[in-house]
Amino acid sequence: MRVGVLALQGTFIEHIDILRQLGVEAPPIRLPCELGTLDGLIIPGGESTTMLRLMESFGLIEPIRDMARNGLPIWGTCAGMILLVKDVSNYEMETLRLIDAKVKRNAFGSQVDSFEVDLEIPLVGEEPFHAVFIRAPIIEETRPIVQILSRLADGTIVAIRQDRLLACAFHPEFTDDLRFHNYFLNMVRQKLSHNPEDRILRGSQLRL
Ligand code: GLN
Repeated sequence: MRVGVLALQGTFIEHIDILRQLGVEAPPIRLPCELGTLDGLIIPGGESTTMLRLMESFGLIEPIRDMARNGLPIWGTCAGMILLVKDVSNYEMETLRLIDAKVKRNAFGSQVDSFEVDLEIPLVGEEPFHAVFIRAPIIEETRPIVQILSRLADGTIVAIRQDRLLACAFHPEFTDDLRFHNYFLNMVRQKLSHNPEDRILRGSQLRL
């Protein structure tokens, strides 16, 4: 299994380390030609506007959109989540526009902009998940097609899934708890078991 990590800026090294611990090939992705043989992609935390600008200059936006439309599992953490959703309520920015949700950037304000909390995320396991929020966004609105995976105690939505796209407002790459990564890898495995020939096809398209 090969799960690429967008490596333009942000927490890509942390994601790559965890994927390698889990025995997954985890190439850093910087160029469109590196996307072709992936079974999944992670967009890390960082600064969404910087990442977006770099994605534009490296010509990554349309290729990633196309691969998502073709069913590539993609997971965005924090800034990565901002890049995946259709709308950002408090900034003008043209995201990848893949998940039917609206987020608010830097939603916890400047004083209390970082915190840690134990979250209930039933789909990753019964034990609470220790979640690290750093100048985090929140999810303000979702369309019915979007599955809500976790909320803060006050009801604020902080993790969502739409088909093969996963997004969370916090940073599982900053903890030793590998359950969220495992959850994403299971999405990738499911996709591979539905279309085993997919990888070979994508590989051969790239060579053409
Ligand atoms: N505040 C950042 C943004 O809006 C996200 C922060 C993060 O990824 N930790 O892009």
